[in-house]
Amino acid sequence: MSKICVIKGDGIGPEVVDSAIEILNKAAEKFNFKLDYNYTLMGGIAIDETGVPLPKETVNAAKASDAVLLGAVGGAKWDNLPGDKRPEAGLLGIRKALGLYANIRPAKLFTPLINACPLRRRVIKNGLDLVIVRELTGGAYFGKKRTVTKDGVKSASDLMIYSDFEIGRIVETAFEIASKRKKSVCSVEKANVLESSRLWREIARKVADRHPEIQYSEMLVDNCAMQLVRNPSQFDVIVTENLFGDILSDEAAMLTGSLGMLPSASLNETSFGLYEPVHGSAPDIAGKNIANPCATILSATMMLRYSLGLSEAADAIEAAVEAVLADGYRTRDIAEEGCRVVGTDEMTELIKGKI
Ligand code: NAD
Repeated sequence: MSKICVIKGDGIGPEVVDSAIEILNKAAEKFNFKLDYNYTLMGGIAIDETGVPLPKETVNAAKASDAVLLGAVGGAKWDNLPGDKRPEAGLLGIRKALGLYANIRPAKLFTPLINACPLRRRVIKNGLDLVIVRELTGGAYFGKKRTVTKDGVKSASDLMIYSDFEIGRIVETAFEIASKRKKSVCSVEKANVLESSRLWREIARKVADRHPEIQYSEMLVDNCAMQLVRNPSQFDVIVTENLFGDILSDEAAMLTGSLGMLPSASLNETSFGLYEPVHGSAPDIAGKNIANPCATILSATMMLRYSLGLSEAADAIEAAVEAVLADGYRTRDIAEEGCRVVGTDEMTELIKGKI
């Protein structure tokens, strides 16, 4: 029996996590596996009930689990608290406590949602199904920061620093993910100007040499940003450092056109991971039964695939989501002419019915 630490969070978090759990339970019944859920607190609700955004019990419960399924945290009620007391501090805290160094963001355009893609049809005629593997704990976001004033001139710097170890483990993760997909990895850096990128390239090549079964390529980050809108079908797995990954993953997400459909995972060196939708807590629509549960449901399928080794069940859930969309059902955020708009609960029931 796999142990799942569940953090529903704030806003629409509880609604979309409940949907995902219903879908997981249906898949468990169909594919004969068992999940044991441990419900814990984080974010605004944790501040209200315990005084802190990330109670120790939550970290302990997460560490004692095989994976964490998270909704989203945050909301206006807690916006005026100091930075380290805000709901989002819980997110950063749990990522750090669990050593989650690899952020996995798939960008897949489901065929029935092709109209949501801002690119021309001819550009996406071969589909769009890629994964961005972003290093999450190094680079300029975590390197030494300094602001100095000298001779009346104020200047600031952020050190973009990477060790061979940090590069090697994230590139290995990308190769591992590619081995379960179309077997192609593109390493993205800026080796023509950055020293840290030159080390990145050197280490990435060593990892590539160990995986001759995976096709390996390299691309400069500026070219990658362009290729993502020019010919996104060429990519399978893109691996890159923290800052480049932050930007490229949002660009790739926009290509699918629908925030309510985007899942993510953050992994550590074991098969452990934290799985959450890309969207936030959407307080504007909380409690109205109109939130799109698909991003969280698809995050749960990533959990089945990456942490629990249940790829068959993951495939079945993804196919069920696509089938419901193909039947013309949409939540309000992805509604288009001629489609039937349904609420969170109905969408969940429809997907369950297709598993
Ligand atoms: P958001 O993603 O919550 O919402 C942006 C817009 O998208 C809103 O109009 C919302 O209604 C809509 N939306 C988002 N998810 C949807 C879904 N599943 N179905 C239908 N519509 C959906 O971003 P925001 O409004 O900038 O942030 C709201 C709160 O969420 C803030 O407190 C922010 O700090 C927090 N946040 C949390 C996370 C996280 O927990 N990982 C991520 C981003 C934002």
